[in-house]
Amino acid sequence: MAVKQEFQAESKRLLELMINSIYTQKEIFLRELISNASDAIDKIYYKALTDENLTFNKDDYYIKIIPDKANRTLTISDTGIGMTEQELIENLGVIAKSGSLAFKREIEAKEDHHIIGQFGVGFYSAFMVAETVTVISRALGSDRAFKWESSGADGFTVEPWEKETVGTDVILKLKPNTADENYDQYLEEYRLRQIIKKYSDFIRYPIKMEITRTRKKEGSETEFEEYRSEETINSMVPIWRRNKNELKPEDYENFYYEKKYGYDKPLSWLHIHADGAVVYNAILFIPEQAPFDYYTRDFEKGLELYSSGVLIMNKCPDLLPDHFSFVRGMVESEDLSLNISREMLQHDRQLKQIAKNIRNRIKNHLLQMLKDEREKYEKFFKAFGRQLKFSLYTDMGVNRDELQDLLLFLSSKEKKMVTLEEYVSRMPEDQKYIYYATGESVERIDKLPQAELVLSKGYELLYLTEDVDEFAIKVLTQYKGKEFRSISGGDLGIEPDEQEKPSDEEAKEQEELFKAMKEVLGDKVKDVRASKRLKSHPVCLTAEGELSIEMEKVLRQTPHGKNIRAEKVLEINTGHSVYEALKRARASGDDKLRRYTNLLYNQALLIEGLPIDDPVAFANDICELMV
Ligand code: ADP
Repeated sequence: MAVKQEFQAESKRLLELMINSIYTQKEIFLRELISNASDAIDKIYYKALTDENLTFNKDDYYIKIIPDKANRTLTISDTGIGMTEQELIENLGVIAKSGSLAFKREIEAKEDHHIIGQFGVGFYSAFMVAETVTVISRALGSDRAFKWESSGADGFTVEPWEKETVGTDVILKLKPNTADENYDQYLEEYRLRQIIKKYSDFIRYPIKMEITRTRKKEGSETEFEEYRSEETINSMVPIWRRNKNELKPEDYENFYYEKKYGYDKPLSWLHIHADGAVVYNAILFIPEQAPFDYYTRDFEKGLELYSSGVLIMNKCPDLLPDHFSFVRGMVESEDLSLNISREMLQHDRQLKQIAKNIRNRIKNHLLQMLKDEREKYEKFFKAFGRQLKFSLYTDMGVNRDELQDLLLFLSSKEKKMVTLEEYVSRMPEDQKYIYYATGESVERIDKLPQAELVLSKGYELLYLTEDVDEFAIKVLTQYKGKEFRSISGGDLGIEPDEQEKPSDEEAKEQEELFKAMKEVLGDKVKDVRASKRLKSHPVCLTAEGELSIEMEKVLRQTPHGKNIRAEKVLEINTGHSVYEALKRARASGDDKLRRYTNLLYNQALLIEGLPIDDPVAFANDICELMV
């Protein structure tokens, strides 16, 4: 008797979820087991590519489904690479790194058992329908076979066994039927056929099913006998070669799950049969959500690359530009050599042409989506817009033509997302610039003193609330001949309504006052000036030059950006009574002016969301004023 071994803790939890699954789509267990079988045959196939002692004779490789009504077992048998004793323990006793782990993470986050069908849940899904799972396997190159067996979360056993050929048999002892679940259906030919067709039709190897038929007994007219025959169920035509018109959304969604492109639903896809200058087939998906590691260094972009139906590279990065790195899917081209190396591929002319073509198609697909399916596009942008903006910045605008029309920004008009095209097309004639404001949130931006004038003019304002936003805008500099202008930097091109030009005497006094204030502030500001952008607020800070105050905030968070400072200008509203107070302060002595200047400067910092150097001094100044 073999000794019982424990599952690893996390495997146990997943297993329990599977066993007690209230999920209605239990049928996906078959998809998972067939997919494992197919992977196992693939492994032999790849080995044969480089191992001359191994020949891959196509007819020898298949998956077999054997329903046995008498014993209530369903066997999924394959002629794949098999597993050694150690592999049985490691692969089936521990959560596999790929599908199941991400699934577990998701499940734990949501505790929603209904989402099970959306995941590549792997081997453990067998426990949704089986009370006992037995795996008999013999690994390639070994003459010994082993039996792995488990009836659920309390553990599994492994012991030596007999098996004539290399490969794996997974034997499911089905659960007894219950009032609301009929497990016998997984022994019915029509039902199995239906499930295989639905999920596994394009598997490259034949999925044969053992079928029981009846015929007349030889020499008898009245007596019948049963016999077993075999039939290949799947068409084996890969989905990417099938005609688009014959395929349903479910087919694409199933393919997406099957390939484990993501654990979400695909938001949109494009199926390409290109037979122009470059010939290839491709199915490209835009996921609904960014993968958890998408915005990290760990993320690897790339598409699967097939040649003549065979996967030759898992993630071919050269097929996707960085700004479309979120696209998942596959490309098949006939004429690529099977054992081509990564380095060779990079220089392959054909591959380059495919990449260019794909890139164009993705762009057009996204533009089409933006035009026809706005809501969907906004969902896409929410997940991946950051990448588009980020790429625009990192490639220094090289791809601006490709990217600028794909951008969306939140606008002050109805607080909706708008394209730059939409913004520019409805600009009033007297509006010179595309105005934007940066800040933590819309609420905060709306309260900025600098926003008042632009908004009161009825001009549209773009809210840039993501750290990458302004960097992208700076790279664009203009759209359709209209320059971008931050409400907190440079000339807004708006003349204040009541244009009272100060008298010469007044102008001189102003100049002297601001000069004195600048002396108080020293290097902290580049200049103190009369503001052309303030309406009801007394002061604000603006930035001159390339670096804005918001960019300073972002860069200060980076390792090398601690000392980066924007060139700040303290702007004073000369129409505000504070200005008069400043004049009086100057008349009454330098100390008062110094105090007022510091107060106003610190206020302006606070409004911008910047830290003030000496909060205690600031507080004391205010108290003194009150007293
Ligand atoms: P995944 O397929 O996502 O890796 P599974 O839980 O389905 O996770 O399977 C775990 C591992 O067990 C596989 O990665 C594979 O190494 C091994 N395995 C499962 N089924 C088979 C099989 N039929 N033949 C060979 N190895 C298998």
